[in-house]
Amino acid sequence: MSSTPQLRLKPGRERSLLRLHPWVFSGAVDEVSGSPQSGSTVQVRAADGGFLAWAAYNPSSQIRARVWSFDESQTPGPEMFAKAIDAALARRSAQIVPETTNALRLVHGESDRLPGLVVDRYGGTLVVQVLSAGAEKWRDTLIGMLRERTGCARIHERSDTDARELEGLPSRSGSIFGAAADGPLKIVEHGIEYEVDVASGQKTGFYLDQRDNRLRVGRLAAGRDVLDCFCYSGGFTLSALGGGARSVVAIDSSAQALASARRNLALNRIAADRAEWLAADVFEALRKLRREGREFDLVVLDPPKFAPTSKDAARAARGYKDINLNALKLLRPGGMLATFSCSGGVSPELFQKIVAGAAADAGAPLLLRERFRAAPDHPVRVEFPEGEYLKGLLLERS
Ligand code: SAH
Repeated sequence: MSSTPQLRLKPGRERSLLRLHPWVFSGAVDEVSGSPQSGSTVQVRAADGGFLAWAAYNPSSQIRARVWSFDESQTPGPEMFAKAIDAALARRSAQIVPETTNALRLVHGESDRLPGLVVDRYGGTLVVQVLSAGAEKWRDTLIGMLRERTGCARIHERSDTDARELEGLPSRSGSIFGAAADGPLKIVEHGIEYEVDVASGQKTGFYLDQRDNRLRVGRLAAGRDVLDCFCYSGGFTLSALGGGARSVVAIDSSAQALASARRNLALNRIAADRAEWLAADVFEALRKLRREGREFDLVVLDPPKFAPTSKDAARAARGYKDINLNALKLLRPGGMLATFSCSGGVSPELFQKIVAGAAADAGAPLLLRERFRAAPDHPVRVEFPEGEYLKGLLLERS
């Protein structure tokens, strides 16, 4: 193995790897030997020369290497990837019964020991995101294994995210196997049907991580006036209507998302005018609703990622504070707020602090009723807290 390129870390910088955290930041690297290319397998060694991990190198990213394995005898390659994919698939079938849905995240990157690989299944279609140099190098092998194991007739790639840019990789999307879908696919989640546009929808087409939270919020909606902020294709709106909401106002800035949400109501034989649709910026719309004297009994705030990394946490905190404060001003006493953050750079503790600050400023004391997290097909490893990007609070104004 003497020809394998190596990264030697600065003294003390081996600590996070010894705790099994799978990222090596550029500032931790003392010396690179053996001229690795983007995506090449490297051995990561401590300053004293001790083996730490096998990783994929990326000279263009702040995350200079992503760990494939901490076991010196387990070298990255088809055998290791097959094992990781099999474990990921087994985890899903053990945790989610098929009646729940036919749309699942099958592979969730680092949390499934496949850094940079995200795979969502929508019925018989797989949507793949290849988001790291290492996953890019092994792309064909990984996709071949997924095809073989899932038997899916269609595979679509959506490697067109900001994460790809941060890795210095060009954006790529399109059909890579089987006939391209000639329109949106249909999925079922907790008894509700949705169209999913894998080619041009957001992310891979649908926010699978909110599956069980949509169900929970729907069950709280009976008889309530509901405000669904950042509604995308109408997930929380449909769940609330299904749960017997008295009225729903749904807001999104994307006309495409709202059009999809209206079609989703029709798909479930619900008249589109059961909800009031606002194509607007939520920051402004909340203020306008307040000026109009509107009030609600259940408000959902499910904004996009404000802070991809902890560097953006301060700016993100201002955004979360603003929407939570203005949402609370619209909430009747006894009303509920379901508020979420999907920012990896904002910890659950910080998020709760921000919301508590908003509550104090709004003069709206809140009881913490429940905590939300991503559905179980988005597993979280204790050694990789970044995997716990989605957190939410269910709060009661009292
Ligand atoms: N709740 C949705 C997912 C929300 S994703 C679900 O369950 O599926 C975040 C949404 O916020 C996207 O649809 C995006 O178009 C929208 N968005 C982003 N910034 C916005 C803004 N400032 N005002 C209103 N909508 C915004």
